Amino acid sequence: MDSPPFRSRFVGIDAAGNEFHAPPEVFAPLFRQASYDGMTNRTYHVGEDFPHLISGIRAVDEAVAFLELRHGDRIGHATAIGINPEYWLNRMPDRCYLEVGCLLDDLVFSLTILDRNGYEKSILSVIQRKILELSRLVYGYDVPTEVLERSRLMRHLDARYLDEIDSMCLGLQKEMELAKLRETKNMDPEAFKLFELYHAKETVIRYKAITPFETKFLPADVLRSLQRFVMSTVMSQQIFIEVMLTSNVRISMYDDYDKHHLWEWLSSTGDGCLRESKPTVVLCSDDPGIFSCSMRIEAELVYQMLTKNKTNNSYAEQTVREILERANEKSFGPCQLRQD
Ligand SMILES: [Zn+2]
Repeated sequence: MDSPPFRSRFVGIDAAGNEFHAPPEVFAPLFRQASYDGMTNRTYHVGEDFPHLISGIRAVDEAVAFLELRHGDRIGHATAIGINPEYWLNRMPDRCYLEVGCLLDDLVFSLTILDRNGYEKSILSVIQRKILELSRLVYGYDVPTEVLERSRLMRHLDARYLDEIDSMCLGLQKEMELAKLRETKNMDPEAFKLFELYHAKETVIRYKAITPFETKFLPADVLRSLQRFVMSTVMSQQIFIEVMLTSNVRISMYDDYDKHHLWEWLSSTGDGCLRESKPTVVLCSDDPGIFSCSMRIEAELVYQMLTKNKTNNSYAEQTVREILERANEKSFGPCQLRQD
């Protein structure tokens, strides 16, 4: 980073990890450090692999919140907020197997959004009951949903320093992280206590226990509402979504390009649910070494699918051109790295 040859060559950072083992909260301190060092162009792969659709939708939301993604930053995939929930539900077995804590977080996240949007009380109380049952399993007592939610939103903090919260330290980055911890603790001690408990060894063991979950616990229209909520956050922050057709058909939920959500995002019709929620998309080849693809192939796929499906050649050509031009316009410029 500090070496002069690198300074002119860094244009941004891209994190693409195993989503099951490394959720956005793991990357939050690193992204903060990168921002501090002047690397403000970020992209993060998320919402591609998930044990339940709600987990994937929550992961996209947490990526935006915890990594502080903003205008010009990108999200890779975001399949969880694009895929048709009915299609996903029909492809899944009746039961999913999730970590108890992950399921608890998913339901707390869902209840908070649905409650805010005035959803039917009958659905909310079913979710509430399940939350209480799970909070006993993970934390050992009935934790109010609001406290669970406020505590979940603290997970961008750097938990490595929890034991040093009252100590002095040298090093600017670490001091900044400690200050964030102290400030959050002072502002909301109740939720912070739960945040500390979340990181305790015994809790981690209970959190990671696997539990079965009825896949259709929440119906498709409720899942759509969650998708819309997160999509509106992504759009309001003007974050771009990198679409990876080849990768998604080779290793994700799709077995055919026809089913991909990109066509929904590009079309002016569709089933109506996501019509008002169209993100800015760019194309991405994901990992060409693994998927044997290239940007040229991805663009060609978009063109072929558009002409195959309903549009005329000139419309397809124009659409591909617009996607590529937008990507060029918004490509990452050189980072303004710190000089000290
Ligand atoms: Zn990826």
